[in-house]
Amino acid sequence: MQDNDSVIVINAGSSSIKFSMYSGPALDLTMRGKIENLYSGVARFIAQDAQDGVVGERHWRDGPLDHEGGMRFLIDFAQTHLDGHRVIAVGHRIVHGGQAHSGPQRLDAALVDELEKLVPLAPLHLPHNLAPVRSVMAMAPHVPQIGCFDTAFHVGQPAEAQEFALPSNITDLGVRRYGFHGLSYEYIASVLPQAEPGLGHARVVAAHLGNGASMCAMDAGRSVASTMGFTAVDGLPMGTRCGALDPGVVLYLMQELGMDVAAVQKLMYQQSGLLGVSGISSDMRTLEQSDDPRAKMAIDLMVYRIGRELGSLAAALGGIDALVFSGGIGENSVALRAAVCRDAAWLGVQLDAAANAAAAGRIARISKADSKVAVWVVPANEELMIARHALDVVEAA
Ligand code: ADP
Repeated sequence: MQDNDSVIVINAGSSSIKFSMYSGPALDLTMRGKIENLYSGVARFIAQDAQDGVVGERHWRDGPLDHEGGMRFLIDFAQTHLDGHRVIAVGHRIVHGGQAHSGPQRLDAALVDELEKLVPLAPLHLPHNLAPVRSVMAMAPHVPQIGCFDTAFHVGQPAEAQEFALPSNITDLGVRRYGFHGLSYEYIASVLPQAEPGLGHARVVAAHLGNGASMCAMDAGRSVASTMGFTAVDGLPMGTRCGALDPGVVLYLMQELGMDVAAVQKLMYQQSGLLGVSGISSDMRTLEQSDDPRAKMAIDLMVYRIGRELGSLAAALGGIDALVFSGGIGENSVALRAAVCRDAAWLGVQLDAAANAAAAGRIARISKADSKVAVWVVPANEELMIARHALDVVEAA
């Protein structure tokens, strides 16, 4: 890779497209931005350079913007703002790769067609991840595109961690636990050994706590269990998702309350979690500032569920050497980290309160020097992980 070569990373969700540009052999972040509010109201675009200076801004007031329109704008913008950089690869975050895709792969039309078949496994996310791939294929066909799958990091989990206790004819259809947030965990696994050399071979539980939230047990950097399963609604309570639910609740909602599939889906994905319990907000900052007992209940429930899952994941590992916090809540909420660590004292976790209070925004150890379990904060960086993968794939070609 030359100094002026760049990798562009695209992370497309249902209503937004985020992008980052990394340049030179060290993959320095040179530009990042996003288009938000796709399909509704006024779509907004903003791009910033590495020093947070605004280098582009636009609003669409003349009707809703779709993924294709957004990508057409972004490709135009990139071509006029490359500043001498040459794009050698575009890396995409792809939520689902099924069982077959255990690592990053060059995307061609045949692979995109194959991935389309996985849409029933991730109907809320996968179509939005694939739309920009097709746009770049049509508008810049010579640029290599690399798919990085959020499930890939978990593909090697033991069979017991992946199977539901269902008849094999159902399991064979792909109804199994996949796990998500894999790119975030892979990034954490990649930086921990540099932060503390012994952790490369350690038993680590990492918690990615953002609007979506999950936890992952890693043994020597490899995933052995995770809280998200068949879909990204399992496990912890999240901003608006309920997390693990007795499946009998779904039957009750449908049989007794007469809710249809769409209503149950909306309840589980958009009306539950921190928002549903508090009745106030899905945003942890808002809840932490509220005096309302329901806000406290929502936070307490999240802390409790993290503690329960921590015990379960520690059991899957046969013990725990390190606990890692990541994601918007994990990186920023001093109070949540303190509460989780207080409840995890039985595992040998001893928090250093001053280090915890000072940890925001950087990789930092927040446990006492003699804590049996090391506790770290690692700011999430899935985008850099995707850029590294994309570069590796094009350089290996
Ligand atoms: P996403 O999963 O959409 O990428 P983020 O990782 O950005 O989301 O996490 C968003 C969550 O992080 C929100 O609940 C937000 O309130 C929380 N958060 C961000 N900053 C803070 C803070 N300073 N204190 C507590 N929570 C915070």
